[in-house]
Amino acid sequence: MSVSAPVTNISRGSLHDGPGVRTVVYFKGCGLHCRWCHNPETLSPKKEILYLPNKCMHCGGCVDVCPDHHKISGNDMVYLRDGCTACGACAEECPTGALSVCGELRTPEDLFEEIRKDLHYYAQSGGGVTFSGGECLLYPEFVAETAEKCRKNGIHTAVESALYVPWQNIERVLPFTDLFFADLKIADPEKHRRYTGQDNARILENLRKLSEIHGNLHLRIPVIPGVNDSEEDIAGFAEIIRGLGKGAKDVELLRYNPLAESKYLFSGRKYTNFADSTQTGAAMESLRLLLSERCRIPCFYI
Ligand code: SF4
Ligand code: SF4
Repeated sequence: MSVSAPVTNISRGSLHDGPGVRTVVYFKGCGLHCRWCHNPETLSPKKEILYLPNKCMHCGGCVDVCPDHHKISGNDMVYLRDGCTACGACAEECPTGALSVCGELRTPEDLFEEIRKDLHYYAQSGGGVTFSGGECLLYPEFVAETAEKCRKNGIHTAVESALYVPWQNIERVLPFTDLFFADLKIADPEKHRRYTGQDNARILENLRKLSEIHGNLHLRIPVIPGVNDSEEDIAGFAEIIRGLGKGAKDVELLRYNPLAESKYLFSGRKYTNFADSTQTGAAMESLRLLLSERCRIPCFYI
């Protein structure tokens, strides 16, 4: 029987997740729970219902199908998550797409069919597929099987991971991975635990091993205002990166995304705002200079 994995989204036409035009596959489930996560619907591996109130036309279809979890209250439809099994019957009934199921199980075969639809874009641009998250490496068999099919068909493969997984999961996908993006969140272990739910010992050990054996490793740091952007934080990142020797090609600083609030609303989660706007170019440039002076590999932001 084929392996399966929960996928939340297949995004086509990305220009920022590896060379050329990319198809990015977002998996559901992650061992970390970063408090700034801009894809909160990917945190849990379980299927769940997303509700977009702005698309609801209060037709009452979902109430008829499942009155225990849907109520019309005044001008609003209220969705009660407690006890919902995410069976999807309400989403099937919904005429506007206000309700949808997030995290349908896919197989490598059907995912590959989706990926290969963009073959001509890959051929023209040197692009390919990027497996992302959540944490795609919670599903190493699935990613390895899909990536192997891609490679056999000449499609470039990239994996983006926070590396909070057993080393065996990483090893499983390496033979089929052309490029590896590894996220670094916070250098200080205790602070890492406070903001992501786990310390970074396993991540750093995996990163060290990966840097020794994979020739195309790129680092990514999401810069979160007031969390990991002090001089001390940058010095901590630089020390980690220097410890990798020539193992990492470069490091990309990712701007904070202040637009994730609606995703928390749609998935019924509590939102924490770390800043009302993204960082200015000047702020990013000063962090870039600080880091590149200390870590001695190319450092950039977009
Ligand atoms: S997903 Fe199923 S259980 Fe949940 S609200 Fe919809 S119909 Fe009810
Ligand atoms: S079926 Fe859809 S549009 Fe109708 S009330 Fe429910 S969520 Fe709103």
